[in-house]
Amino acid sequence: MSVRHAGVPDVQWSDWTWQMRNRIRDVGALAHWIDPTDDERRAIEALADRFHFVITPYYAGLMDPGDPECPIRRQVVPRLAELHDAYGVADPLDEVAHSPVKNVIRVYPDRIAFCVNNECALYCRFCLRKRMVGDDEWSMKKRELEEGLAWIRRTPQIRDVLLTGGDPLVFSDERLDWLLAELRAIRHVEIVRLGSRLPVTLPFRVTDALCRVLEKHHPIWLNTHFNHPRELTPEAAAACDRLLRAGVPVGNQSVLLRGINDDRQTMKALCEGLVRMRVRPYYCYQAQLLEGTAHFRVPIEEGVALFRWMRGRTSGFAIPLYVLDTPHGKVPLTHAYVRGREGDAVVVETCDGRTWRERNPRAAED
Ligand code: SF4
Repeated sequence: MSVRHAGVPDVQWSDWTWQMRNRIRDVGALAHWIDPTDDERRAIEALADRFHFVITPYYAGLMDPGDPECPIRRQVVPRLAELHDAYGVADPLDEVAHSPVKNVIRVYPDRIAFCVNNECALYCRFCLRKRMVGDDEWSMKKRELEEGLAWIRRTPQIRDVLLTGGDPLVFSDERLDWLLAELRAIRHVEIVRLGSRLPVTLPFRVTDALCRVLEKHHPIWLNTHFNHPRELTPEAAAACDRLLRAGVPVGNQSVLLRGINDDRQTMKALCEGLVRMRVRPYYCYQAQLLEGTAHFRVPIEEGVALFRWMRGRTSGFAIPLYVLDTPHGKVPLTHAYVRGREGDAVVVETCDGRTWRERNPRAAED
């Protein structure tokens, strides 16, 4: 799908700093792109103090101006439904309690998420970290980044560092280069991962200059966050291609969202489109019990059935692992294919519902 430019010259449109400076932050600016509904207008006002909205012109260009149910629009434009969530909480994964120093989240012994900033190109209405995104209290001054680095230096168990936020690619090339060099200088840090939605929401950020920075600090991995096939634009594909050519493996972590990608054909089209772009569908997250997101949540049984349905209908590596994140780590939400044991055989159910008995004695056979 091509992106509407709204008459902006190409040279500005494809400049990521222009896109950041000209982000949409109020109803007046939004009205240049869509005709906001009464619900959207009232929600923007009512939610201004809780989780305000910010959208890049690029992403706004993907919205269907005449369809309030547009899956792009629903991800970023506030709705009054956000005010009606009886069970959602601010920090469902208890990340604050898992932080030894500011913005370092440690759930597993050998890896951490390091929330290096509090800013993103746009604010997703279902954001797990909406408590921190755009909130100055969670921004990271250089001194605070250095405190995080010092903690990693004195914790030799940490072999895998995920830079996230917010979004680490909102940093300038210079700051990212400095941060990656500091991490690379720590001998026990084997890999650095970047969690960034910018290939989706602002693909022009993935410049050749950025790729040269990343190439200097391998092994670097990147997971991005496409949720709908309409996000798979030529611009996004080109951004992923630049990363891949720089030797950065690109994976995708989506969130299962009601009315956006919980339809079988939509999820299949998303995953197959990602594979065509050489982006590996890695995880699909169950939406958390996060405040203001009840209208996005899908019953887990429906998610299990969706991914079960995909098995056998597309390439195996096009099917992401459906997971529930918990304060104790991720739990795969897989269909129970294993039915049990019958003597020396294990009984499994194949993807087309047939029963298969695999000889598999408990004791080794000569
Ligand atoms: S890009 Fe990621 S961190 Fe930023 S608002 Fe969206 S979901 Fe949250």
